[in-house]
Amino acid sequence: MNFPGLLTLRRLAQRIDLKATRCVVCGTLCHEGPLCPECRQELKPRTGGYCPRCGRHFGEDDDTPHLCASCRSIPPPWNALGFHGAHEGLLRELVLTFKFRQGLHLTALLRDMTEQAFSRMDAPQPELIVPVPLHRRRLVWRGYNQSLELSRGITKRHHIPLSTKALLRTRNTIPQTQLEAEERRKNIRGAFKADEEVQGKSVLLVDDVLTTGATLEECAKTLHRAGASAVAVLVLSVAEK
Ligand SMILES: [Zn+2]
Ligand SMILES: [Zn+2]
Repeated sequence: MNFPGLLTLRRLAQRIDLKATRCVVCGTLCHEGPLCPECRQELKPRTGGYCPRCGRHFGEDDDTPHLCASCRSIPPPWNALGFHGAHEGLLRELVLTFKFRQGLHLTALLRDMTEQAFSRMDAPQPELIVPVPLHRRRLVWRGYNQSLELSRGITKRHHIPLSTKALLRTRNTIPQTQLEAEERRKNIRGAFKADEEVQGKSVLLVDDVLTTGATLEECAKTLHRAGASAVAVLVLSVAEK
């Protein structure tokens, strides 16, 4: 018996590249996901030319790892920082989409990038992962906590426990993006409460972006006050101060 229909289908399948997929960022057809070569190039991690404590970017030609002047005089309240790249261009767009424009389709990609940034970190393995919490009201409004979503890849791949109760936001604050650096510090002061489960533990604090550092500083101080033995910070992007 002859199956002309089946034969045509097979020929058609040979002509269409069945392995082709679409880039999750720009939608271009590509052979290897999740990113097309252009987006992959633009989203390359930053591996040199920054201060290892605050992420401040040095010039392109300054590649030797060293602390910036600011961290030498007043070090931030964490002992290590991991991040993917500068908060600019495509990375900035993805971080903002993920946070403000219901960008849940980017979850797997950004989770992977966070996990890779964690693997590159030069710090002892933490005992507890703590995502920067949202206030209950904002969580209900947004539907998800972007920092918690970013943390899940690390906890899964490195088998480090994650706690959403270790740090709580007890006060709903004005969004930090509307404020200047000093106002941000005042706005966020006393907004968190840490649970005694952090006592004696080294904690990895996870957020999406480090801007002025006001939120992460307040979180780190709160964790230290509750007895955390060490605090390290992991973010996707670091903004130029
Ligand atoms: Zn693309
Ligand atoms: Zn620094």
